[in-house]
Amino acid sequence: MFKVALCGNPNSGKTTLFNALTGSQAHVGNWPGVTVEKREGFYRHKRDFPEPIDIVDLPGIYSLSPYTPEEIVSRNFILNDQPDVVINVLDATNLGRNLFLTTQVLEMNVPVIIAINFFDIIHKRGDTIDIDQLSKKLGVPVVLVSALKGTGLRDLIAQVYALKGTKRDGTLQFHDSNLQETVFQVSNLCAKEDIPSPLFIASKLIEQDAIVTNQYPEIAAKANTLLKARELATNTKDSEETIANDRYAYISSELYPCYHPGVRPPKLSASDRADKILTNRWLGIPIFALIMAIGFSIVFDNDFLHMGAMGLPSLRAFYETPLPGIPSLGIFLQDSLDWILNTWFTGLVRSGLMAAGAYSWVTSLICDGILASVFAVISFLPLIMLLTVFIQLLENSGYMARVAFVFDRLLRKFGISGRCIVPLISCFGCAVPGIMGTRTIESPREKVLTISLTPFFACGAKLPIFMAIGTQIVYVLSGGAIDGGMTAFIMYAVGIIVAILAGYFSNAYVIQGESSPFIMEFPPYMVPRAKATSLAVLEETKKFLIRAGTIIAIMSGVIWFLQNFGWNWQLVPNDVNGNPDLSQSIISSIGVFIQPLFYPLGFVKGVGGWKYIVAAFTGIVAKEQVVATMESFGILGAGLATSGIGLTIPGAFSFLTFNLLTLPCIAAISTAKAELNSKRNFRYVLLFWLSISYIGSAFVYAIGSLSLIGTASYGILEIVMESLTLAAVVAIAIFLLVNRKRVKTGKEKIHLFHFDVEDPSQTAVNRLLNPLGSASCSRNSSCNCH
Ligand code: GDP
Ligand code: MG
Repeated sequence: MFKVALCGNPNSGKTTLFNALTGSQAHVGNWPGVTVEKREGFYRHKRDFPEPIDIVDLPGIYSLSPYTPEEIVSRNFILNDQPDVVINVLDATNLGRNLFLTTQVLEMNVPVIIAINFFDIIHKRGDTIDIDQLSKKLGVPVVLVSALKGTGLRDLIAQVYALKGTKRDGTLQFHDSNLQETVFQVSNLCAKEDIPSPLFIASKLIEQDAIVTNQYPEIAAKANTLLKARELATNTKDSEETIANDRYAYISSELYPCYHPGVRPPKLSASDRADKILTNRWLGIPIFALIMAIGFSIVFDNDFLHMGAMGLPSLRAFYETPLPGIPSLGIFLQDSLDWILNTWFTGLVRSGLMAAGAYSWVTSLICDGILASVFAVISFLPLIMLLTVFIQLLENSGYMARVAFVFDRLLRKFGISGRCIVPLISCFGCAVPGIMGTRTIESPREKVLTISLTPFFACGAKLPIFMAIGTQIVYVLSGGAIDGGMTAFIMYAVGIIVAILAGYFSNAYVIQGESSPFIMEFPPYMVPRAKATSLAVLEETKKFLIRAGTIIAIMSGVIWFLQNFGWNWQLVPNDVNGNPDLSQSIISSIGVFIQPLFYPLGFVKGVGGWKYIVAAFTGIVAKEQVVATMESFGILGAGLATSGIGLTIPGAFSFLTFNLLTLPCIAAISTAKAELNSKRNFRYVLLFWLSISYIGSAFVYAIGSLSLIGTASYGILEIVMESLTLAAVVAIAIFLLVNRKRVKTGKEKIHLFHFDVEDPSQTAVNRLLNPLGSASCSRNSSCNCH
C-alpha cells in the first residue's frame, strides 16, 4: 500500500475528488474551513490495480507559507509524512491563482501529479488547456479531471500507479528571476546538511519563513548574508514579496498561456444577472427572508399554504382534534411517524409487558419514560431531513455564498467582519463544524466574537423545539394565526437580530482588537446534485438517530427517575387521578426552587411553570432533549390545557428565545472550549451565553406582552417588565448617543470573485495577487467589491 496526498486551494474540489476515489461519505461543502481536519480513505480496484492506495485529503490552502494552521498542516504532512505521490488539485476556472500553490509544491522533493479539476465547466465554456505543454513546463504529469462528473479519474489513478516508487527532486518555478541564483546557493547549503527538500527549504528561508528560520538558524544566518549582499548589489528589498511577484510573473508569462479561452459573447452572463438581483444592496436580505419564509411555510405548516384558513374543508378528519386544511409534507410525515411509534409500537410494547406480568413501574419507565421521550424526538426526524434538504439546496445551488456576501454588508456595519460569517452560516446545520470553522480566523478577537455568536444561528436540533412549541402551542393559542413554519421563521430571525446586536456591543465595549482582511469566492450557480444532498441527509439522519438512541434514551430514563421518585428514594404516591404525584418528586423540588429566578422571562408563570425551565436546561445534553423532557412532563399539545401552566404566546416565544440563545449542547460547548484554548475566554463565552439568553428572553417577553393588554394574562409582572425594558432602551439609546463612533465598522473590504473568467490573462495576475486580501479588481462586471 502507498500513500497519496491531495492538496490544493480551498474549493478546488479535493473533497469531491477524495469522495469519488474512496467512495467515503465526507461532507461536501462550499466553505473554506470545512476541511480543516485531515481526512483519510482508501482507493481500491481489485482487478486493474490490486494494491490499495491510502488517500489523505489535506486542508485547502492558497500557499505553503506558515500563516494559517491549514498551511502548516499541509506542508508538514508533505515534508514529514513523505507521501509517495502528491496530487495537486487545481481549479481550472481559476487556473492562474491555483498555480501559485503549484509553484511551491513543486519545490519539494516528492513525486507530483497535477489534476486540473472542473474540466466539465471549462469544457462547456469551450475553453481548452494544452496539458502536454503545461506538463512539459512543470516537469510533472498533468491530467484533466472532473471530480464531480467522475471523468478522467482512471487516467489519474493510472498516473499515480505509474509514479509509485519513483523519486523526484524539487524544481524552481520562477526561472528568470534574479533571486534564482541566491535560492540555489542556499539550496546547496541545505543539501550539504542533508536537509530533506533543500530547494523548498531554501526558498522558504529566503522568504523569511518563521518556522524554517527557527528550525535551521545557522543556514538562515548564511542565507541572510547572501540576501544582504544581493540586496546591496541589485538595490532591491523585501524578498518574500519579490519571490511572490516572480512566481506570479512566471505563471502569467509561461504557464497561463497554456489556457486557451474559447470565444465568448461579451454580455453579462446569466449568473451575473442573477447576482445583480440576489446580492442587490436593498433586495438581498428581503429576498433571503422571503425564500426562508416560503420554504418553512411549505414544509412545516400545520395548515399547508393556509388553505384551511381560506375555507378548504379539513382533510384531517381522522385526527383527535381535527385541524383545518391539509398538513404540509413535514407535518404529515411527522404525524404519521408519531402515530406509528407512539400509538402503535408503544401500545404493542405496553400490552406485551403487561401480559408478561412486568411491574407497573417497569412498564412506566419503559413506555412513559424512555419510549415516549425518545419517540417524541424521533418523530421530528422528517422535519430535520427536510430542513437539511432545504439548506443543502441553498448551499449546493451556490446561493448560500451570496447570502454570506449580503450578510457581510449588513454585519460589517456592526463591526462583524466577513471572515466570521462563513462559519456562522454553517451553524444553521450544526454548531460543531461551525465552531471548528473558526480556525481559519486569525484574529483572536474575531474568533472569540464569532464563537460567542454561534448559538444564535439556530442549528437543526433546535428545529424540533421551535416546531413542538410552534405547531402544538403557538398554533393552538393563536387560533391558527401563527403556524409552525412562521414560528420557526420568527425564531431564525430573532437569532440573526440578536447576533447583530450582541456582536455590536461585544465589539464596541468588550472584545477589542484588529480585524483582518477577508477574501471569498462566489461558486458558480449549479443545479444541486441529488447525490450530495442525499449524502448530507443521510449523515444528519444517522447523527440524529444515534443521539436519540443513546444520549436521549439515557437522559430520559434519568428524568423519569427524578420525576417518579421523591427524596426518600421511594416511588411517589399517586394523585387523585391515579397518576404519579409529580409535586412530591425530586425534579419538582429542584424546579420549584429555581422557578422564581425565571419569573421575569414570562414562561414559568403557573404552578407547573418550572417544567419549562427544567426542560430548557436538559437541552444542554442535546437540544432534542428539550422536546423529550417536555413530552415526559406532558406539557405539549393537549397536555397544555390541563397542566395549569398559563403559557401565553409571548411566553412561548420567550421560551423559544431562551432555548435559542442559551448554552448550546455539550458537544458544541466542548468544541468551543477546545477552539478558544483559553480559560478566560471560555468563561467569558459561557457567561455571555447565559446572560444574553436571560436578557434576550426577558426582552422578547416584555415586548410580546404588549399584545396581552386587556386579557387576564396581563398583570403586575407584564407592567414591570415593560417599564424596565422601556427604561433600558432609553438608557442604551442615550448611552449610544454619548459614545458614538465606538465601533470600528471594518474598513477592510470583502472581495468576491466569480469562478467565471472573462479575460483570463488579466486575472492571472489580478485575482491571485494576494489571496489574503487587499487585492484590487480591475474588472467590475464580475467582481463585487465594495
Ligand atoms: P475542497 O474545498 O477542495 O474540498 O472542494 P470541494 O470538494 O468541497 O468542492 C467545492 C465545490 O465544487 C463543491 O460544491 C463541489 O460540488 C464542486 N465541484 C468539485 N469538483 C467539481 C467538478 O469537477 N465540476 C464541477 N462542476 N463542480 C465541482
Ligand atoms: Mg474539502
